[in-house]
Amino acid sequence: MANINTSGLADHTFDAIVIGSGISGGWAAKELCEQGLKTLVLERGRNVEHLKDYPTATKNPWELPHRGRLSLDLREENPIASRCYAFKEDATHFFVKDKEHPYVQEKPFDWIRGYQVGGKSLLWARQTQRWSKYDFEGPARDGFAVDWPIRYDDLAPWYSHVERFVGISGNKDGLDTLPDGEFLPPWEMNVVEKAIRKRIVEAYQDRHVVIGRCAHLTKPQEIHHQQGRGQCQARSLCQRGCPYGGYFSSNSSTLPWAAKTGNLTLRPDSVVHSIMYDEKKGRAVGVRVIDAHTKEATEYFAKIIFVNASTLNTNLILLNSTSSRFPSGLGNDNGLLGKYVAFHNYRGSLSASMEGYEDSYYYGRRPCAVMMPNFRNVHRQETDFLRGYMVFYSASRGRGGAAANGEQLGAAYKDALLEPGGWGIYMMMQGETIPKESNHVRLSADEKDAWGVPLLKVSVGYDENDEKSLKDFLEQGAEMLDKAGCKNIHVNDSRQAPGLDIHEMGGVRMGHDPKTSLLNKYNQLHACQNVFVTDGACMTSTGTQNPSITYMALTARAVNHAVSELKQGNLQV
Ligand SMILES: Cc1cc2nc3c(=O)[nH]c(=O)nc-3n(C[C@H](O)[C@H](O)[C@H](O)COP(=O)(O)OP(=O)(O)OC[C@H]3O[C@@H](n4cnc5c(N)ncnc54)[C@H](O)[C@@H]3O)c2cc1C
Ligand code: SF4
Repeated sequence: MANINTSGLADHTFDAIVIGSGISGGWAAKELCEQGLKTLVLERGRNVEHLKDYPTATKNPWELPHRGRLSLDLREENPIASRCYAFKEDATHFFVKDKEHPYVQEKPFDWIRGYQVGGKSLLWARQTQRWSKYDFEGPARDGFAVDWPIRYDDLAPWYSHVERFVGISGNKDGLDTLPDGEFLPPWEMNVVEKAIRKRIVEAYQDRHVVIGRCAHLTKPQEIHHQQGRGQCQARSLCQRGCPYGGYFSSNSSTLPWAAKTGNLTLRPDSVVHSIMYDEKKGRAVGVRVIDAHTKEATEYFAKIIFVNASTLNTNLILLNSTSSRFPSGLGNDNGLLGKYVAFHNYRGSLSASMEGYEDSYYYGRRPCAVMMPNFRNVHRQETDFLRGYMVFYSASRGRGGAAANGEQLGAAYKDALLEPGGWGIYMMMQGETIPKESNHVRLSADEKDAWGVPLLKVSVGYDENDEKSLKDFLEQGAEMLDKAGCKNIHVNDSRQAPGLDIHEMGGVRMGHDPKTSLLNKYNQLHACQNVFVTDGACMTSTGTQNPSITYMALTARAVNHAVSELKQGNLQV
C-alpha cells in the first residue's frame, strides 16, 4: 500500500467504488446506495451541481459574447471537440479541451468527452430506444463478434425499472423491432411529418414510422417530483443544463437521489489511474487515484468496483491495471481487452423540401425526431451487407416568408424574418457497425498524460460493410422522400470520422466463454468477479439504437446481481 494521504485506512474503505459519474456511473451509484452500500464515486472532473453550475442556462443569445457561436480561437484550439454539433459557446465548459487530454489517433477518430460530475449526461441528445430481440440475436445469427450472453427478456424488466425513474416520453407502437417501454405521453409529429409517414407506410410493407422516444418529462410523475424535476418546456437548450430538470442527467436525477440515502461519497477531481489486484485474495481490492490538481497519489478500497468511465476510458483503466497475475491488463487472459471496438455509422444524411402546408405550424422546439426502426435484414439476410440502420427524420419551417425576395438586408427582410418560411426535411441514419478484432485501442508504450497515465492509442475505422450500408441508406432515403412527395432531394456523405457519433462501444465485451469475451452475463470480469463493467465497453455488438438507456438497464441489473452475491458472501474481499 503506497502513499495513502489519510487519517486512517477506514476513511478510504467503502463497500463499493464506482469509477465515473456519468450516465452509467450515476445509475450504479443510485442503485448501490439505495441497497445500503457505502459507495464512493470517483470522478476525474470538477464538481457540477444541478442548477448552481449551469452558468448559461437562462442566457439570451445577446448575452453570450458571440451570440452562441464559436470564436475562431476556440475552434482552432479544439479541432476535435468543435466538430461536435453541441460544442457551442453556451456549452463549451462541459467538454474537455483537446490540448489538455491528448490521445493518439492511429486512424482518424474524434473522441468527444465531458470530464465533470455528470459526464456526458449533461450533453447527450437524450434519445432512448430499447433494443429488440433481433439485436441481441444478431451476432449469433449472422456469425460475427460473439453471442450475447443475454437476450431481450433478461433486460426487459430492467429497461422498465430505468424508464420509470428517468422519465421517457414515447408512444406505444407495438413493434417487435422497437419494443415499447414505460412511457410518458409522446411528443407529436407535425403535419408534414405525418404526411411523409402516411406515404412511406403506404408504399412499403416492411417500414414503420414512429415518434422518437426521449428522456424528457412531458408529464412528470410523483417519482420525478421527488427528484425535484419538472416538465420540459421544449426550449431545446439542454446542453446548457436544464433549470427545470426537464431532461435526465446524473446531476439532476441519480446522483442527488444517491446522496439522499446518506450512503454516497462523491469525490470529484480524482483521476483513477488503475485498479489494484490482490493475488492472494484473487480479487480486486481497490483503486489508485491521482488528484487532478496536486497530482498526489492515493488509494481507496472496496469489496466491489464498478467501472463506468465511459467506453474508451474504461478500456484504458483496465489496460493500465497490470499485476503479475494480469500483465496485460485486468481480466485480460485472452488478450482481447481493447479489441472489437465498434460505433454507429452516422455518415449518411439527406435534405429535401416539401411544397404546401403553409397554413400549418408547430409548438416549441421538440427534443426528438421521427424514427424508423431498422427494416434491413431483420428476419433474414436480404442485402449484400450485414445488419442495418435506424432512420431519423424531421420537418421544420425556416424563417423568412416570400416577402424578402432573396434580400438579406433592409425592412422587407426584417419583416420576412417574422414569418415562417417553407418546409425543410432532414433525414439521417444510425447504422450498426460490425465489431472487429482490428478495430482496437491500446496503451502507448512511451507517452503519458499530465497525470502519469499512458495515452490511449485508438485504431478504429470503417469497413466495406459500412460503405455498403451507407450506400443503401442514401438510396432508400432518397426513394422514400421521393415517394413521400418531397422535392429538391440532396444526399450527403459527411465522411465524418468514427467517434463523432459518440456511440463508441466494446473492448470489454460480454459473452458466455472466458476464452472469447471479458465479461459474463452479469457484467463481471470472468477472471476477477468483483469488478463490473457496465458502460459502453461491455457491448458485444452495437444495434441501431441510441445506446445509453441500455447501459443504464445493464448497470441496474448488474448492481442487483452484485448485491445479491455480496449478501451470499460470494464477493467478499
Ligand atoms: C452531444 C451528444 C449527444 C448524445 N446523444 C445521445 C443520445 O441521444 N442517446 C444516447 O443514448 N446517447 C447519446 N450520447 C452518448 C451518451 O452521452 C453516452 O453514451 C453516455 O454518456 C455514456 O455514459 P457513460 O457513463 O459511459 O459515460 P459518461 O457519461 O461520459 O461518464 C463517464 C465519466 O467518467 C469520468 N472518467 C473518465 N475517466 C476517468 C478516470 N480515469 N477516473 C475517474 N473518472 C473518470 C468522466 O469524467 C465522466 O464524468 C450523446 C453524447 C453527446 C456528447
Ligand atoms: S428542452 Fe426541456 S429539458 Fe431541454 S432545456 Fe428546455 S426545458 Fe429543459
